[in-house]
Amino acid sequence: MTTETFEFQVEARQLLQLMIHSVYSNKDVFLRELVSNASDALDKLRLEKLRDDSLDADVSDLHIRIDVDKDARTLTVRDNGIGMSYEEVGRLIGTIANSGTATFLKELREAQEGGDAEGLIGQFGVGFYSGFMVADEVTLVTRRAGESQGTRWTSRGESTYTLERADDAPQGTSVTLHLKPADPENQLHDYTSPWKIREIVKRYSDFITWPIRMVPETAGEGDAAPEPETLNSMKALWARSRDEVSDDEYHELYKHISHDWREPLETIRLQAEGTFEYQALLFVPAHAPHDLFTRDFQRGVQLYVKRVFIMDDCEALLPPYLRFVKGVVDAQDLSLNVSREILQQDRHIRMMQRRLTKKVLSTIKEIKAKDADRYATFWREFGTALKEGLVTDSENRDAILAVSSFATTHAAEPTTLAQYVERMKDGQDDIYYITGESRESIENSPHMEVFRDKGVEVLLLTDAVDEVWVDAVGEYEGKKLRSVAKGEIDLDGKSDEKADGEREKQAEEYAGLLGWMQEQLDEDIKEVRLSARLTVSPACVVSDSHDLTPALENMYRAMGQ
Ligand code: ADP
Ligand code: MG
Repeated sequence: MTTETFEFQVEARQLLQLMIHSVYSNKDVFLRELVSNASDALDKLRLEKLRDDSLDADVSDLHIRIDVDKDARTLTVRDNGIGMSYEEVGRLIGTIANSGTATFLKELREAQEGGDAEGLIGQFGVGFYSGFMVADEVTLVTRRAGESQGTRWTSRGESTYTLERADDAPQGTSVTLHLKPADPENQLHDYTSPWKIREIVKRYSDFITWPIRMVPETAGEGDAAPEPETLNSMKALWARSRDEVSDDEYHELYKHISHDWREPLETIRLQAEGTFEYQALLFVPAHAPHDLFTRDFQRGVQLYVKRVFIMDDCEALLPPYLRFVKGVVDAQDLSLNVSREILQQDRHIRMMQRRLTKKVLSTIKEIKAKDADRYATFWREFGTALKEGLVTDSENRDAILAVSSFATTHAAEPTTLAQYVERMKDGQDDIYYITGESRESIENSPHMEVFRDKGVEVLLLTDAVDEVWVDAVGEYEGKKLRSVAKGEIDLDGKSDEKADGEREKQAEEYAGLLGWMQEQLDEDIKEVRLSARLTVSPACVVSDSHDLTPALENMYRAMGQ
């Protein structure tokens, strides 16, 4: 049988080098990654069989099995799940499709120069390749459910891997790690010890809903082979009561479903009883993913029906502006065959989405009330996404506004609208804001001069979505939201007659100049007029209150409108 040798894709090679030379101290997590992949593979097979009963696959005893061989120094993680075809092995294992990983590598190179690589490695899930932290050779044998021939993949983690056909492969995948030589100094890392394996599985993978089995050490020569024991409790965390589950257990579930190695910022539980029963376990991550604002961002939480995994990224369960929330929703009364299309139209799902949305928003409110630092982290990472809800979710607009905060001229930390209103000057009727690309550019804008002079607070809005929500929201507690760059600005309340008279006089005086300017600029502007808004700069461009702002104009133009 022919063996083909392939080069790893460049990014994959870099990641492998990192794993091989890893200084990352917590090597135990490689087992979590392999078990996580095996669990995904079992979920996928059960689902595929459910959709297509004619699939030639055995689903009678889906499980994960771990075998250690002390003499050969190997550790094998085996599943009888979906498996991979020859082509899939090359594509899924030989390359890194995930764009987040490419960004990670770039950050990592920069961190290495600064000497902080270890911290960063701990923050990213590196999946299958993490096996190379503990092994000097990895063999993967797999057969796709429904196919007759298997595939063997082998690599020493250097620049190449080999692929060959394997005729005898059972359904599913086995990954065998040829462990690096034992370190006599460090018995803690003896991955051929069943005790050690049991401990790691308990710690990281207890909630996995498939049995993880291991054959205990044989008592002696000639004894009957002992029965495998199941290492995990398999209890779905979302179905257990709060006081039965530790924070660590919740965090491990988060890591499994989010592929994030860091702890979440917040865990949210919800149990709905009654005619449409469901349980939800949601997580707010502590860091925004790199691709949160790209079109192909995979949003949504996992959907289970009566403990059976149905789909990843179920976008019907939360609105787009909460797309950063991860987690599991387990519904009792849906069909196992439910499709995305049906979910989009289902009345119960819509009610569920409303309830989950309110729960997430009230949790953010609690964080804000209780813990300023954690709220600041939340807002820094996800505020931009949340503000989209001010435009799209009028039902929850007030709740979103209550947890939104904005940079301002009058405080170092972002401020809420409520705080702004409290600070408003006597006689000030409106809430002023300015939009632009960066804080520096808008702080130096000529529009700001008169506000600075009079000490009037201005919100400094720099996200593209800001231009849209301020219009959608319009006012807060009866105070209009007003752009400093639009229309007439009158900060002295009712303009007194004396000032009016003076301006008229000035207008006469400068009529010649204004007329000449108007002529010169006629193509580009509507009107040239004297203004009270400038104190230092000689001139500035102002929009009518109803005109598009320059940034929005650019946005629409870019969209071809
Ligand atoms: P991730 O799990 O984040 O996608 P991994 O590096 O852990 O990344 O795995 C890469 C891909 O390889 C998986 O998405 C999956 O398609 C495939 N894969 C890995 N392990 C298995 C397995 N045991 N059975 C089937 N497919 C697997
Ligand atoms: Mg994985």
